[in-house]
Parts: sequence; structure tokens; C-alpha cells
Amino acid sequence: MSIIGDWLHKSEGPARTSGQLHVGSMASGMAVTLPYVAVRGARPGRTLWLHGQVHGDEINGMVAALRFARALRPEAMQGNVVVTPTGNPQALDARRKRNPYDELDLDQTYPGNASGLISERLAHALMAEVRGVADVLINLHTMNPLFDARPYTVYKVHPDSRVTEADVLAAMAPFHPHVACQQDVGGKGELPGNISGALDYQCLAAGICAFMLELGSGSRFEPENIAVAERGFHALAVQMGILDGTSTASAAPARTLRRVKRRGWITADGGGLFLPAARAGDLVREGASIGDTMRLDASVTPVSPFPRDGVLIGLRSDPVVHTGERLAFVAWEWDTVNIA
Ligand SMILES: [Zn+2]
Repeated sequence: MSIIGDWLHKSEGPARTSGQLHVGSMASGMAVTLPYVAVRGARPGRTLWLHGQVHGDEINGMVAALRFARALRPEAMQGNVVVTPTGNPQALDARRKRNPYDELDLDQTYPGNASGLISERLAHALMAEVRGVADVLINLHTMNPLFDARPYTVYKVHPDSRVTEADVLAAMAPFHPHVACQQDVGGKGELPGNISGALDYQCLAAGICAFMLELGSGSRFEPENIAVAERGFHALAVQMGILDGTSTASAAPARTLRRVKRRGWITADGGGLFLPAARAGDLVREGASIGDTMRLDASVTPVSPFPRDGVLIGLRSDPVVHTGERLAFVAWEWDTVNIA
């Protein structure tokens, strides 16, 4: 049963609603729910679904999605917009990435399990609503609070999905991402974990066009990154036929994207204070260093020079580093793709 889908499709006429999807309860009796906002247009059409966060300390996407929904005029729409501002309410309330009650990474947990741990139940409850309802879903993220980044996208290719890579690239183009990273679902060379458990990958499996939009830093309100997302939501809704594009000044989608096929982390070889000599988004040339590590005896060691050209997707902004901690997230291979 889909509560949101039923509301969108079993009644008619422009309207908006909001509510809470019941998932469970705490020992105290306090409810564990997924909040939602749904906006139904005057005429039937496609459905754009904005999922504000799966990681509880990633805030910019929630703000952008809620602002976008708030400004919509249902009587002027053909189709629907749904916002689930958080998929991880307990992590949001605790100001942390993971749910404190099971420590799972929710974005490695989809499609979930109705009789599993609480993160798995939250994942299952969301997928039950999304499946058969969303046409395009955006899985909103940020980097963690220790990093700066320019807005970018991450996507996967699902071998059995009817959604093609070209479809996903076209849906990302309205956001003008700094880079569009094609993530290997095997996860090689990036971070350990169950990458196929990402919401966007499970949406592709369900025939929904989906990708991750990364909006700067966690635990912060960043107006410029939020504005990028709001403009992109608008332009994508025009592209999907939900909003009328003639009456607005929404920016045209990007005609090309910088597609990244390999990326990786630079980690610290020693502890100290990382003093960057570059900024997030920069192209760093082969042989250049991204900064120095200053130790507390006043000595300074440059970070190892880049073995080849790389683009800084994310750069550490918190100087305190220990051996093995991440300094930068780097795109190592890219090409330029035309948008259909
Ligand atoms: Zn995230």
C-alpha cells in the first residue's frame, strides 16, 4: 500500500498535503515516522520525488526541497512533486550521519526489510511509497561537516534497469554539477560498503530515474548551495512537464557534463594541522601539492605531489588530521559528455 501514491492518483484536482508515515515507536511511546509533503497538480503528469536526506547531518538538501515545495502552486502544475525531507529521522534529531540505534549507514540499506533493524525498516517504508509512484527521484546529500565541496552529482548504471545512463545524465543537467561521478557499484577504490544498497541504485532497479545530488557541507546552512538545488529542481520540473517553463527565467540545463569515471581519497600520512593550498573545485596539476601538514614542533611537510592531474571534488576544511584521515576527494579520470 502506498499512502502518498493513493493520495496522488485516487483523487483529483490541485491540492497539497503533508503527513507522517508510521514506521515504529520508541520505548517511551514516541512515534518513529517519515514526514512527507505532497503537491498534486491540476492535471495528471509525472512525479518528481525529492528525498531530503538519508544521512542525518546533511541539511542543505532538506532546506532546498522544502523551500521548493512551499513555493509550488498546484493549480499551475501538470503532475506531482513529493518531498520526504528526511529518511533518517533519528539521525537528524541526533545531528549525526547514522541512526544511533543501529549504527547502519542508511544509504547502504535499501531496499530495506520490514522486519529488520530500525534503519532497514525506515528504508523499507520509503521504498514502499516510492515504488510505482516516482518517475524521477533525487537522493540529496552533502559531504561531511569537515569538508568543503561545490555541488556535484553521483550516479550508478543498473544493468537490468529500463532507465539508461543518458536518462540519468539528462535529469542531472539542470543542476549544472561541477562533476557528474559515475560510481562503480562494486565500490572499488572509493570506500568500503554495500554501494548497491543506495537509494538511487534501488530506484533504478525499480525503473525510477534516480541520482545523488551532493550540496556542499553537512551540519550547515549554505545559501548558495541551497539556491543551486532550488534552481535545479525548478528546471528539472520544467523538463519533466510538471511546471510551465515559459513564464519563468529558470536557467537552461547544462549541454555537457564532466563525467568522472574514477575518483579516490588522499589521506594523511602523518598527524598535525592540514593547511590547504587549494580550494574545493580546483584542478590540481600533476606534480603539485594540495597543501602542507604542520606538526606541533613547527615543522612543515608538504602533502605528496599529485601523480597526475586531478579535480578536487571535496577538500578538508577542518585542519586537525590524524594519520589515515581524509584530506581530499579527487576525480582522477573524466571526459565530457553531451546531454541528449
Ligand atoms: Zn550522505
